[in-house]
Amino acid sequence: MPTHDIVIVGAGLAGMRAAIEASKEVNVAIVTKVHPLRSHSGAAQGGINAALGPDDSWEKHSFDTVKGSDYLGDQESIIAMCKEAPDDLVAMERMGAVFTRDAEGKMAVRPFGGAGFARTAYAADFTGHVLLHTMYEQLMKAGVTVYEEWFVTSIVAENGECRGVVARELTTGRLQEIRAKAVIMATGGLGRVYHKSTNAHVSTGDGMGQALQAGAALKDMEMTQFHPTALASNGVLITEGARGEGGYLLNSLGERFMQKYAPNKWELASRDVVSRAIQTEVEEGRGIDGCCLLDVRHLGAKRILAALPQIRELAMDFAGVDCIDEPIPIRPGMHYSMGGISTDVDGAATLKGLYAAGECACVSVHGANRLGGNSLLETIVFGRRSGTAAAKYVKEVALNEFPKGAVARDQAKIDDILGRKKGEKVVTVRDELNMNMITNFGIFREQGKMGTGLDKVKELQERYEKVVVDDKGKVFNTDIIAALELGYMLELAEAIGKGALAREESRGAHCRRDFPNRDDDKWLRHTLALQKGGEIKLEYSPVSITMFKPEVRSY
Ligand SMILES: Cc1cc2nc3c(=O)[nH]c(=O)nc-3n(C[C@H](O)[C@H](O)[C@H](O)COP(=O)(O)OP(=O)(O)OC[C@H]3O[C@@H](n4cnc5c(N)ncnc54)[C@H](O)[C@@H]3O)c2cc1C
Repeated sequence: MPTHDIVIVGAGLAGMRAAIEASKEVNVAIVTKVHPLRSHSGAAQGGINAALGPDDSWEKHSFDTVKGSDYLGDQESIIAMCKEAPDDLVAMERMGAVFTRDAEGKMAVRPFGGAGFARTAYAADFTGHVLLHTMYEQLMKAGVTVYEEWFVTSIVAENGECRGVVARELTTGRLQEIRAKAVIMATGGLGRVYHKSTNAHVSTGDGMGQALQAGAALKDMEMTQFHPTALASNGVLITEGARGEGGYLLNSLGERFMQKYAPNKWELASRDVVSRAIQTEVEEGRGIDGCCLLDVRHLGAKRILAALPQIRELAMDFAGVDCIDEPIPIRPGMHYSMGGISTDVDGAATLKGLYAAGECACVSVHGANRLGGNSLLETIVFGRRSGTAAAKYVKEVALNEFPKGAVARDQAKIDDILGRKKGEKVVTVRDELNMNMITNFGIFREQGKMGTGLDKVKELQERYEKVVVDDKGKVFNTDIIAALELGYMLELAEAIGKGALAREESRGAHCRRDFPNRDDDKWLRHTLALQKGGEIKLEYSPVSITMFKPEVRSY
């Protein structure tokens, strides 16, 4: 049986950063369902935050992040991230990441939404691509074992302690136990639970679902971020960097409407505020085919080609618009999950030996709304921290028995799906789930719709038990993988839905028409979701408030 000290699930920025750090001390393997360079981190466009300028500071970065989170972020975690950001960025540069420079040859920074300072470092508008390639080179150098194109089917735990994972080799269909003293989940986001997400097709939230099944708690799952500027046709993202460079938002009357909604920050208010504004303009009849316009023409061709070359191509390919000459039609799209596997500031989850980092984790640096540029930062800082913490942990504990029957259990589940001859296809149930989530748990929420939405999730969970796949083979059977992914997505939809229905207030991205105000007396607390007796049950935990007392939030 393959045995390692630590097995890391996911080879995006968080997983690879954790692997590089932990492999300095102990034996590490990394398992990934796609080639590491196809991880969604490679699609990040706009940049990564750190207080680098002489007038900026970690205190200011922390304040902006706490305010951005609508005071739900844990301040202990936020302060750790903002303090460590500049060193981590310099470390990335020393590993070989090429950042865009300013006139003096220093790392250039652009302003991003909700930030009091220009503190987003970038490589044109393909920052994630540059960071991911750099990290992959370092992973190769570190000599970590990579199980590439292996799909983890479950986390294995016994007596409240993690023992490793079960994974399916995609080329052969073989199921294999991989034994370890600790597991770090770095499986990224769950965007594909929603219709027209900006996320890659692989962002199906597997790791969060598996953590739930293993008995770990998820935190603040109701906090779903909509990015203000996605293309209408397919949800592809147009980076906030476009507004950071000076782009405007216009309605059908040609008005820069953000002045009304955020008189101080205009287009650079935080994402929840801008998404609600666009949605309101459209709902009140000042949109164009369900969209508003993002105008960068005034920046000029030279600056657009230097700073935003990728979004120009995306808009040409998917919207038929050259942004040098015409504004781009955009609308909000589901983008990011602030919630995830509940961890402490070192990435430790509520199950012994289980760690999590990156988008699948909720260290709680984003609270109810994430600031642009803070997620790439989170992957690097907490990838590193969880790698360090897990390495320390495995040096202190013994390797316990791998429970018998774990592989057989997962094999039986797969065989059951493969054995069904007649029934609905996976895609039918998934499409209905996607539409249900966007319709009933979207930018604006209310009790009635959410109740309907939760009933629908339950119905889909029942129908899921009978879905069929066409491909019954072993070699690269992506049909069966899609079926397994849908199982996790349905469970996460229940966690999102129950958390959202219970939270009777509006905070950050969670905006309820029936409870329009923030209610700190009742709701300044985290939602925890646990799998108990075949359904999601909610519990609550306090928010860490150290430096910044809650204030009214306006931009
Ligand atoms: C279009 C787009 C643009 C963005 N731009 C920015 C930006 O400019 N700045 C910023 O800060 N943030 C940005 N973000 C957010 C940020 O990029 C992500 O949150 C972050 O990169 C996630 O990294 P990760 O390492 O957690 O996961 P990912 O990079 O998503 O990697 C997940 C990994 O998990 C593996 N995996 C998943 N499930 C399984 C399984 N069952 N078995 C085996 N392996 C599995 C995958 O193979 C993959 O390797 C953007 C996001 C998107 C979608």
